[in-house]
Amino acid sequence: MPVNIQNFKKIHSELTAQNVTLVAVSKTKPVEDINELYLLGQRDFGENYVQELVDKEACLPKDINWHFIGHLQSNKVKYIAPFVYLIHGVDSLKLLQEINKQAIKNNRIINCLLQVYIAKEESKFGLDENELDLIKQQLPILNNIRICGLMGMASFTDNSKIIKTEFQYLQQLHQTIKNWSFPNSDIPNILSMGMSGDYLLAIDCGSTMVRIGSLLFGERKYTDLKM
Ligand SMILES: *Cc1c(COP(=O)(O)O)cnc(C)c1O
Repeated sequence: MPVNIQNFKKIHSELTAQNVTLVAVSKTKPVEDINELYLLGQRDFGENYVQELVDKEACLPKDINWHFIGHLQSNKVKYIAPFVYLIHGVDSLKLLQEINKQAIKNNRIINCLLQVYIAKEESKFGLDENELDLIKQQLPILNNIRICGLMGMASFTDNSKIIKTEFQYLQQLHQTIKNWSFPNSDIPNILSMGMSGDYLLAIDCGSTMVRIGSLLFGERKYTDLKM
């Protein structure tokens, strides 16, 4: 399926007007598709699978900001640590500690978003408020981590009332953590929420970064999209 240039231009201008960052989610899509948007000026791309991201990074322009938006296993952090721009799905202290360790090895500070559990469904990953608090306590010794904000995924439902409630909860929590003190950052301003189906609602609820795949690149051919 070809890249939907019309959608890209429309979404791009909507987001620019509201100061929201577009992460183009290119998982399962070929490098040619990524290049097409790159040539139109898009620089932020999101991927879910470590091997796929490593392969794509190797053959695409170096000024791309690669966002890792999937569920990251601790034993795979080392493969993306040299170049990843922002890790969205940090959902455990153990993972954060491993990212810190790999960041030290690569002599860099790695940008992270803490993924908060907001959906009603059991299958979604994320931290609850107690776990967030635990991470808050450990942050002072994680010198090579920069917490840039929060990320969340709403329930997979057509019911926009449910989605809105979940987004509003995340927005509230984001306001709270803005008052925490973090090493390596001033204020963790990023709130990553909203996908193809709910990005406008997410922006209404204060999102500053949306992750959009299928509206730009077409439907994906497999079903385990959320991994
Ligand atoms: C796949 C994915 C997206 C993009 O989903 P679309 O509905 O295709 O826009 C966004 N965020 C995460 C975490 C994803 O896994």
